[in-house]
Amino acid sequence: VMGRSVPKHEKIAMLIDDVQRIRQQFTSSIPILVARNQTEFVYKLAKETIVSNTSIPMRRGSQKKTCGNCFHDDVEGEKMFSVALCSHHFCVDCMKQHIEVSLNEGVVPRCPHYGCTSNLTLKICAHLLTPKLKEMWEHRIKEESIPVCDRFHCPNPRCWALMSKTELVESTEDGVRRHCFKCRKHFCITCKVLWHSNLSCKEYKSSVQKPTTTVWRQCRSCQHMIKLSGKCINVTCRCGYRFCYACGAQWKLGGCSHHRQAVMELVVGLVLIFLVFIGLSIIMPTVK
Ligand SMILES: [Zn+2]
Ligand SMILES: [Zn+2]
Ligand SMILES: [Zn+2]
Ligand SMILES: [Zn+2]
Ligand SMILES: [Zn+2]
Ligand SMILES: [Zn+2]
Ligand SMILES: [Zn+2]
Repeated sequence: VMGRSVPKHEKIAMLIDDVQRIRQQFTSSIPILVARNQTEFVYKLAKETIVSNTSIPMRRGSQKKTCGNCFHDDVEGEKMFSVALCSHHFCVDCMKQHIEVSLNEGVVPRCPHYGCTSNLTLKICAHLLTPKLKEMWEHRIKEESIPVCDRFHCPNPRCWALMSKTELVESTEDGVRRHCFKCRKHFCITCKVLWHSNLSCKEYKSSVQKPTTTVWRQCRSCQHMIKLSGKCINVTCRCGYRFCYACGAQWKLGGCSHHRQAVMELVVGLVLIFLVFIGLSIIMPTVK
């Protein structure tokens, strides 16, 4: 089939395109059709083979390539980054930008190709990263390994180290007092604040002045306190969790139902005013 006929089905065309692209990466290869029940084994084998080869840079002096993102087609082979699992390739500048955006959005970076879900590994991308981005990536990996509901961040704002809630609860320190493995500061696991010395949790809670003018809301994902300001209807926490300003629920496209309700009420109000106006203009001439 290779290159000899144009396939009718779009999916098959895409598949063959993928195969051709991946084959270009190897000095020799033979495509083989496998039964559906064998794919898992074959995929695993292929993955191991490819991953073991990814640290080898692209062949020196190889022809110029086109970046799959900015479509610059005069990028030197060495300035190109190729994703091992899918062979999509991008220029180094686009990769750097993509990684930074992903990490800032709070996710572990994946292949930038639209719809592609190939994983990128920290080891393979290490040469593209600043020390700060590397640290962020390590944090994201750790974060993804702990289930969302089990994440606990150190209440010390300068530390914010990530810990597992379950592990904290299970450790037998002093009552509700625990200490951070990173900054060594003590904190309370129920109040999620730095240790309230000689106060009990109840005493501490009643001693805290409820803020009146500024509204604070606690992020449901990482317990970080966020000061709400301005007229925004959604806020994004430092951990990447985005939530509704009004009710604290996770943000979804189009906002919460109570926002839509508010918009609906406004629309109904405008329609009513319009109807009254029309009604008046009909009645008015007869009054005259
Ligand atoms: Zn590019
Ligand atoms: Zn890809
Ligand atoms: Zn800490
Ligand atoms: Zn407490
Ligand atoms: Zn958060
Ligand atoms: Zn985090
Ligand atoms: Zn809401």
